[in-house]
Amino acid sequence: MLAPPGAGKGTQGERIAQRYGVPHISTGDMFREEAARQSPTGERLRGYLNKGDLVPDDLVLELVHDRIVAAARETGGYVLDGFPRTLPQAEAAAEIGKETGTSPQAVLYLDAPPDVLIRRLGGRGENRSDDIGDVIRHRIDVYAEYTRPLLDYYQGRGLVITIDAAQSIDDVSRAIFRALDGYAADT
Ligand code: AMP
Repeated sequence: MLAPPGAGKGTQGERIAQRYGVPHISTGDMFREEAARQSPTGERLRGYLNKGDLVPDDLVLELVHDRIVAAARETGGYVLDGFPRTLPQAEAAAEIGKETGTSPQAVLYLDAPPDVLIRRLGGRGENRSDDIGDVIRHRIDVYAEYTRPLLDYYQGRGLVITIDAAQSIDDVSRAIFRALDGYAADT
């Protein structure tokens, strides 16, 4: 899944995973969980998460690699939510795909205009310390600079399915399932 902050990739990722019986791998969830621990890695992650900065690629890969390999081995597939988020990560994801014999079937791009995203993120601050004020703006800028270019990368590979994510959560899920059911039937 490729989506700006606030587009609903966490919620939709869980629903996709449930419908097609594959693990939902959310790097954001993994990092928040680790950041809550009193460990050197937890402390390092807190610094990035609280500012809305990207976690460096090498640390991201160190933390996510084995999880993807295990998912591929156990179920033959996975939903990636929040990874890859930079071009070097996309290249690393392709390598992990080769290593595990899994290749991306589809890249879902959840598209929503900035005002919708900012409104949704504004309602989230109570339980996420990274979603307040300037941090929201910064996360959207970081997305535009580092992650949005992945759209061209995957479009060039013919993988992108664009979903209108400004709709209600259930309508977004319906649109996603309409697009993905065909792939599930093929496998
Ligand atoms: P998310 O829940 O996907 O919005 O991720 C929350 C935060 O975790 C982001 O703002 C980043 O600080 C960090 N993060 C999650 N995934 C990645 C990734 N693939 N690369 C770098 N940072 C990430």
